[in-house]
Amino acid sequence: MINYNVDGDGIATITWNMPDHSMNVLNEKSITAFADAMQKALKDDKVKGVILASGKESFIAGADLNMLLNAPSDPAILMQQFSELQRLFRAFETGGKPWVAAINGTALGGGLEICLACHYRIAAENPKAKIGQPEVKLGLLPGGGGTQRIPRLIGVMAAAPILLEGKELSPADAKNLGLVHEVVPADKLLARAKEWLMTPSKEAPIKPTWGKTANAVDARAVQPWDRPGYKVPGFPGGQVWGPVGVQTFIGGNAMILAKNFAGYPAPKAIMACVYEGLQLPMDTALKVETRYFVSLLLDPVAKSMIRTLFFGLQDANKLARRPKGVPKQEYKKIGVLGAGFMGAGIANVSARAGLQVVLIDRDQAAADKGKAHVQADVEKDAGRGRLTKEKAAEILGRITATPDYAALKGCDLVIEAVFENREVKADVTKKAEAVLAPEAVFASNTSTLPITGLAEASPRPENFIGLHFFSPVEKMPLVEIIMGKKTSQQTQARALDFVQKIRKTPIVVNDSRGFFTSRVVGDYISEGIRMLKEGIPAAMIENAARLAGMPVGPLALNDEVAIDLSWKIIEQTKKDMGDKYRPSGTEEVVKSMVDQGRYGRKAGKGFYDYPAEGKGKSLWPELAKMFPPKPELAFGEGEVKNAAVEEIERRLLYVQAVDTARCLEEGVLTNPQDGDVGSIMGFGFSPRTGGAISLIDQVGVAEFVRRCDAMAKKYGPQFEVPKLLRDMAAKGESFYGAKDKAKAA
Ligand code: NAD
Repeated sequence: MINYNVDGDGIATITWNMPDHSMNVLNEKSITAFADAMQKALKDDKVKGVILASGKESFIAGADLNMLLNAPSDPAILMQQFSELQRLFRAFETGGKPWVAAINGTALGGGLEICLACHYRIAAENPKAKIGQPEVKLGLLPGGGGTQRIPRLIGVMAAAPILLEGKELSPADAKNLGLVHEVVPADKLLARAKEWLMTPSKEAPIKPTWGKTANAVDARAVQPWDRPGYKVPGFPGGQVWGPVGVQTFIGGNAMILAKNFAGYPAPKAIMACVYEGLQLPMDTALKVETRYFVSLLLDPVAKSMIRTLFFGLQDANKLARRPKGVPKQEYKKIGVLGAGFMGAGIANVSARAGLQVVLIDRDQAAADKGKAHVQADVEKDAGRGRLTKEKAAEILGRITATPDYAALKGCDLVIEAVFENREVKADVTKKAEAVLAPEAVFASNTSTLPITGLAEASPRPENFIGLHFFSPVEKMPLVEIIMGKKTSQQTQARALDFVQKIRKTPIVVNDSRGFFTSRVVGDYISEGIRMLKEGIPAAMIENAARLAGMPVGPLALNDEVAIDLSWKIIEQTKKDMGDKYRPSGTEEVVKSMVDQGRYGRKAGKGFYDYPAEGKGKSLWPELAKMFPPKPELAFGEGEVKNAAVEEIERRLLYVQAVDTARCLEEGVLTNPQDGDVGSIMGFGFSPRTGGAISLIDQVGVAEFVRRCDAMAKKYGPQFEVPKLLRDMAAKGESFYGAKDKAKAA
């Protein structure tokens, strides 16, 4: 696990190389093994200096997240466990011998923190290596000294993006910032580390500040903050509380609150930790960090985020839903029908993944327009240095724009993205099917039309599937795969292979109106519109949505997806469902907006007004006349107002969560994880909840049911819970409780 070797010159090398792990991680076993090696190196008088190295392609990927996910809930135990880690790093940092980190590849989280406790850091030239502290993205903070050593090394301003945004650096960037001292060719890394240790210091020995009676030690073995007279960089006189500090921290706090609408505990804890810690000696500062770290670890936000955004996402990307036994499909050539907004995007990401793409539209000009979109996009990337000119030309060269269906011959997959109209879709399906090989997969990118019905236009419904992309295709990470009644397991497996090939995250759902994502997004928008009708001011609805963690308010979202489209969907649903249609209570508002030509952003007007030039939008002032705000709903003070806002937040999130649970009960979703990954990656459901199902666990199933029952009485049937939840509440079950424990076992 950890190899320990001392050479004839008295240089010890401690090499991390964990068996059964593709990457080194910090867990109980590896930390214990490392502690043993460290003690040997410190105690052995023959050892003059130590190299910390890795036997794997990357250095250390960070803490074992399974360990964090299943951490005990007793704060005293956690304090002890994580203080021990701090003491361990501190022990070699203040051990009197120089340590060099030989960073051969990725060093993230605890993997970077162990390097920061070393006195010298050399990174290998490795384009794949990432250096950083990603903890904040999972609701945590660096708990191995990162919040203390990084700002002490490079100053608070430079540390901010690393700690608060989890920004990852290349070795060269890390050197420019001063996080590593040198970058050398990979094959010279260990030799250079040894050379540094063998070169005596030009400085006289230093009496460090870490112990009152300590003798002077080799200057190379004393970190800047352990030297007498050390001052935190960036603050005159090192005064963190001085005028510059006040400006930095007040401004910084305001910025993080504005950015995440105050909802995430981790950035706030990081700011507090840095501010308090920088005013204290290192050992006390590390205790402060451990306290904040433990408080975050005990907060359900971190566990929910780790579970969904790390494990859930990893499972989805590794194709956990792929039926076993189907040979992997290697894709070479695909077809896209409809070179519009979505079709061009799909062609773009496919060509970028190395596939030949035939892009078809009604005529040559329409097909060319789609290709021109791709051209503009790759040229933009080439202009910004993200793609070489040759690569950009290669990508574009893979796309053939044509109205001729014969060009589809030899395609392994065809994705249809023509108008959202059954007849048009049936027509292009037939034309494509006439040239396709019997084993080819046919997919529809419809956002609402049930797949089983669309598959009727195909002579091979078992090869027909839904591949629902999100706009803009280039940016949005999710693809919702929809199984029609007759779709075969083989087609499911092959569709998953395609999604993996284009580096998107798949979830698999069963056919139903609106599938999973469109249906739940519809719930969110509808609840916003119902609130507007009730007399809650639009601004309050939109801001409460942001406070709840949604990326955009429900009214702004409806403007984005188009209000006339909402009306078309309402009409289509009425037609399809006949007597069974249950009005959502939004019909009248949507109709009135459409009648006034307020179609949304594309029309420059919807619930918001969009100025013709420049950016920025503002709520349409007439909304207040159409839906006069009711003072009792909007204009309380203090706690009354807070309670009103909290209620709006709850309504907006719970209406989605309860319908996601219905999707599980109805079999639209086959497991909670797809609901969580799909809701966050597909439509930005408040990530700090861990997703629409995780939210229910966070609240507690029984409490969630109790709250929904009360809301159903007050606001309507959209909050009626499915039997599944009621049964779970009665039995005291949760969605993930059992699963987390199984992982720990
Ligand atoms: P769009 O209007 O931008 O593009 C549709 C394209 O299909 C046009 O270029 C049109 O010329 C072409 N087309 C129409 N009839 C055709 C025919 N008979 N033969 C060949 N080409 C034909 O629409 P879009 O926004 O790209 O949507 C396409 C599909 O994707 C729809 O089913 C839509 O519901 C779905 N979708 C859209 C979004 C979105 O946000 N826009 C998101 C997910 C799914």
